[in-house]
Amino acid sequence: MTASRLALEYEPRLVEGAVLLAVAGRAAERRFRAERDRFYRVADGAEREMGFDTFHAAWFARLALDRPFCEALEEQPAIVARCARWLVARARGRSDEAADLLVPHGARPTLLVRVTCETVAAPEALRLLLRRELLHVADMLDPRFAYAPGVPADVAGGPRERLVRENYRVLWNVYVDGRLARRGLVPASVRAERLREFTRAFAPLGDAAAAAFAPFFDENDRTHADLMAFAARGPGAAPLPRCRLCELPGLTLSADAALPAHTRAAIARDFPAWRPADGVCARCAELYASRATASA
Ligand SMILES: [Zn+2]
Repeated sequence: MTASRLALEYEPRLVEGAVLLAVAGRAAERRFRAERDRFYRVADGAEREMGFDTFHAAWFARLALDRPFCEALEEQPAIVARCARWLVARARGRSDEAADLLVPHGARPTLLVRVTCETVAAPEALRLLLRRELLHVADMLDPRFAYAPGVPADVAGGPRERLVRENYRVLWNVYVDGRLARRGLVPASVRAERLREFTRAFAPLGDAAAAAFAPFFDENDRTHADLMAFAARGPGAAPLPRCRLCELPGLTLSADAALPAHTRAAIARDFPAWRPADGVCARCAELYASRATASA
């Protein structure tokens, strides 16, 4: 099956916005404006809108703005084989840019990608975003990776849920960029970027962070269960004390003397059984210090 069988459906507002950005300053802009102005003279509203949509779609193809989408799909035959539709919609902002799988009951999944007009108008940025997002989606469709939504039952609904989800997000990005880096599809500098993020997320590991990072970036056969176990518990056999809050092993747990009273109070609200003598890891200390400041 080839990419051409999975037709891309673009939201007209995204197509229009991306074309307007991409054509600005180009030699073809004057002709584009002249041709576009004709549609303002169409009296019938529906006819005018349809005219604009068709016109912008033609320029979208002429400016090759669709090419990164087609290329990204060709790199992921598993998505082409499994999905029924691919919708591309306009994201509200950079932080809203993502790919999702919509799985209607009893039907084949729909791939939904949300991107900003600015990203679509910048092919290199779009290519990088799509490679990363589509590899996440390919993992979700891969029976060997065995993706499952949600967090472990002992984490769900508790004070650790947000932290575990964030750790999982960081780990999955490490695993995605590692594979893309080995195929030469992302800049070599991403290893250092992902290691920085990993070290921040798993700050309690201290000097052990780089060694713990390597299997997620440098190896191909990680599974959802591997990632989630590490996100929730850190390295399985770590012979270290564990932080009572995030349950990650920590080399240095801050004792009560190092924690201001308002931080201790913020911790006690989430963990009534916690005692200052238990200590906390540096990351939790920082998290609850900022939470105490925010609520003050
Ligand atoms: Zn902690």
